[in-house]
Amino acid sequence: MTEFDLIYRYFDHQSDLTQKNHLGSASILKGLGDDAAVIEFTADAKWVSCVDTLVQGRHFSDDWSQVETLAFAIGYKSVAVNVSDLAAMGAAPHSILLALALPERLANEKWLSEFAKGLFHACSQFGVQLIGGDTTRHDKLVISITANGLIESGLSAIYRNGAQVGDKVYVSGTLGDACYALHHLSDESLSDSAKIAQQLAHRLHMPTPRVQLGQALAKQGQATAMIDVSDGLVQDLTHICQQSGVQVRLHLESLPASTPLQQVELTERLRCQLTGGDDYELLFTLPAGVSPPDGLDCSDTQITCIGEVISAAQPNSDTPLVELTYQAQVLSDDYPAPFAQMPNLQGFQHFV
Ligand code: ADP
Ligand code: MG
Repeated sequence: MTEFDLIYRYFDHQSDLTQKNHLGSASILKGLGDDAAVIEFTADAKWVSCVDTLVQGRHFSDDWSQVETLAFAIGYKSVAVNVSDLAAMGAAPHSILLALALPERLANEKWLSEFAKGLFHACSQFGVQLIGGDTTRHDKLVISITANGLIESGLSAIYRNGAQVGDKVYVSGTLGDACYALHHLSDESLSDSAKIAQQLAHRLHMPTPRVQLGQALAKQGQATAMIDVSDGLVQDLTHICQQSGVQVRLHLESLPASTPLQQVELTERLRCQLTGGDDYELLFTLPAGVSPPDGLDCSDTQITCIGEVISAAQPNSDTPLVELTYQAQVLSDDYPAPFAQMPNLQGFQHFV
């Protein structure tokens, strides 16, 4: 059973709730299924809420010396990945709650003060306050953060489900950096791959959620769908396709690569860009002819058009929802170039 089969089979009780969950004027505009839930209190106050858990040995190294060395980055990243989900709704970050399961070995001044420094550095950078949490003892480090945000008065959150045929597909920043760093940081230290990985390590350990861009898109009011890329471009784009009922064409030569990643052999680079997790870039759709917002307070954030919505999804069809093209040719088992054979496009999976 995949992660998503499991979620929808056991935890999707939204149809039961829609009628009952009204408290005064508060209603659930979006429940399970998007980057965050959206609750409307009054016509001009929308509350956005999400939770993400980072587990030692799964989201960061199991190795104690690494967990000790990376205390600051782990604190920072736990906040950043949650803020990224708020950004993917177009929300302004507001506050967080921190649930910490702490191993004996890390319950010391050195580790905790570094972890807290990283956490509060992210809090001040993204404008969130820690407003509570829970602390327990456990044999592995587990950090679960609930993040809250607000949709600016008069604006709407951007969901995964509104992409339309003819829309263009855009992504912020560059793709694949964190994936390459994860796989090559421990290569032989003088090798070219380790040197490239070292230049990209900050993208793995200290990702930048695209908060201003998310809010600028909400303000512009033109984006039809949005998600943050946390589990791999194709997998996350497939969520947009499934929820919007559309098929998308992606152009491999358009995928944005950082300068260090451009030195990597093409097929390995593309694999990282298509399936690597931990990018925390925003992936969104805009109607043809509408440009992404400019004048952002994030002028170093590049935005690249990487494809378009080509058709409505055909129910019960074997055609993949995300079609890949390279030099104007659609990739297929018979014509997989630039790959020797069609790559496995599945991204990060917790359960298979
Ligand atoms: P993201 O990658 O943005 O964190 P996911 O794609 O992992 O989101 O999750 C899909 C949706 O499933 C989200 O809306 C999330 O809130 C919901 N979800 C995940 N696990 C559970 C759970 N155990 N119970 C209820 N909802 C869940
Ligand atoms: Mg997300």
